[in-house]
Amino acid sequence: PVEVWVVVKADGYGHGSVTAARAAIAGGATGLCVALVQEGVALRAAGIDVPVLVLTEQPHDELPAAVASGLQLTVYRTEYLEALAAAGGRDVPVHLKLDTGMQRSGARPDDAVALAEAIVASPAATLEGVFTHLAVADEPDHPFTREQLDRFDAALDALSAAGHRPRLVHAANSAGAIVHPRARYSMVRPGIAIYGISP
Ligand SMILES: *Cc1c(COP(=O)(O)O)cnc(C)c1O
Repeated sequence: PVEVWVVVKADGYGHGSVTAARAAIAGGATGLCVALVQEGVALRAAGIDVPVLVLTEQPHDELPAAVASGLQLTVYRTEYLEALAAAGGRDVPVHLKLDTGMQRSGARPDDAVALAEAIVASPAATLEGVFTHLAVADEPDHPFTREQLDRFDAALDALSAAGHRPRLVHAANSAGAIVHPRARYSMVRPGIAIYGISP
């Protein structure tokens, strides 16, 4: 019952991002995820008009192109909101990314409420989603996934208590969506699995 936003980064895992995106949409995907602004711009240039989320913060000089193409953006620092405003962004749907242990990118879960407040206060953005990324979901019995989801749930509770209940809550890559039902929330982000490959 949750939304499926298919990951078509890295040229659709080598299959062609536009071809993969069209197949995903035909198969029921309601959104797409990319790694780079230029990947999203290429989807728009091919006439693909579903929501497209860029999965990490991008160099600030890429933001005008992201705004012009109507891409949704990932945010984890307040400076990024200022850069988005300077790039002409108005009410851009953004997803707040929390680092629950992947140690790659994202805000500290303790900062979630303050960042949500900053997003809501900014004329450049609206809070469309909140998400995290799982480090070891492809090892079904690894206890770390549970730890990450516990941290994520605690942040969601804090957000909810402060009045922030974004429409899209997501954590699962392919492995997360398949083997951790708890990680499905309101949206999943499968990549490798939709190309027919087991994670
Ligand atoms: C690449 C990526 C995915 C998809 O991962 P798969 O293991 O290919 O399903 C999901 N979320 C984020 C943030 C990613 O970078």
